[in-house]
Amino acid sequence: MTDGSWYYAKGGQRVGPFTFAQLQQLAGAGAIAPADPVARDGDAAAAGADVPGLIQPGPGGPARTRLVACPRCQAPVSDAADVCPHCGHTQDPLLARAPGGESAPCPRCHTQSLVRREYAFCFGNCRGCGRPLADLHPGRVLAFRIDQAYADFERWREGPRLWWVGTTAAALGAVAGASLVSPDRPGAFPLLGATGGVFVALALLSPVYYVAFVRGRRGLPLPHDGHRVTAGEWRAAGRRAFDRRRAEHAAGAPEAAAREVRFKVELGLLIAAVIALTVLLNWTHAEGVSHRRAAAAQAGTAMAAGIVATKDEGLFSHEVVLRNDAPAAYEACDLTLVVSFANGRQQSVPLPWGAWGAGERKAVKVSAAGRIERLDLTGTMVDAASRAVGRLDAKFAWPSGGR
Ligand SMILES: [Zn+2]
Ligand SMILES: [Zn+2]
Ligand SMILES: [Zn+2]
Repeated sequence: MTDGSWYYAKGGQRVGPFTFAQLQQLAGAGAIAPADPVARDGDAAAAGADVPGLIQPGPGGPARTRLVACPRCQAPVSDAADVCPHCGHTQDPLLARAPGGESAPCPRCHTQSLVRREYAFCFGNCRGCGRPLADLHPGRVLAFRIDQAYADFERWREGPRLWWVGTTAAALGAVAGASLVSPDRPGAFPLLGATGGVFVALALLSPVYYVAFVRGRRGLPLPHDGHRVTAGEWRAAGRRAFDRRRAEHAAGAPEAAAREVRFKVELGLLIAAVIALTVLLNWTHAEGVSHRRAAAAQAGTAMAAGIVATKDEGLFSHEVVLRNDAPAAYEACDLTLVVSFANGRQQSVPLPWGAWGAGERKAVKVSAAGRIERLDLTGTMVDAASRAVGRLDAKFAWPSGGR
């Protein structure tokens, strides 16, 4: 009795064909009024209300559904229908049952539309009144934005773990490398200072990042410009994130296992870095002590022709002090200092002094290219009292010793 092609008439036009089930859906959606003529192909028409089983008023009266246009064929469809009865196109209520989906009534026209839950923005327009869903559901958009800010916060909270390990290892490696290639290896104290500096910088970076990015994100962008997230909203975002993680954990244990492995790797790197730091500190300390002992034994003064030379070797530059120990004062000095390092390198330093008084000390900066082994001070000077031109050719030596 109910099979075959069915039609109904609306505004003097025949609409169809439909199966009887489709016709029932249309009637349920309110597309077929009880007075509308309905007919099976070839049969005589009857009022919709007179076709058995077509229009079934529910216990509370007709269902409160509204007609919306199918996005594909534009025909009217009940906003409660899962598929379009005309073209079979999937409608919002079916999509809303997918994970993360939800059907929500429009606050203006009460039409049910698909909105995303929790982890997605409200896309598209209301199927009834055509207004943007994001405008119609500001609460959902706000929650979404707060969740984004909270996710930033969580990334920050987990971020420092990798920073500390990675940057500390890099800094230690750099200091260790520098101490290996430098002829003047830094002792334990500069190394400790450098490492401490890295840790202090990291400790400062973390709150700076928090203030600049995480705290800053709690003031939300448009359309919530200027809205400051309250403590209650922040806690709610934390609970949502916790619930989401618990759901993810239940769904995907491998991800949790991967996080566990990552944490153990980071912890291992941290421990290795601490061990490396301790070993390096001990080694450079012993090295520094023996270096200073050897330097102290060889430091001091060398004398030639009334000139006393003193050297002071530093980490980044050396200083040579030349003292005029002669009773005479000199003028028009045209002198050059040639520095010979223990590693065979040489540096020539012109000395642009005019006068050199009796007992006067002149300091000369020399690059720290190695341990200073010898100085050659050559050139001419004029005796201030006798006006006699003298030639200076002085050598100062710090013979090589065990280092
Ligand atoms: Zn259609
Ligand atoms: Zn359709
Ligand atoms: Zn609406």
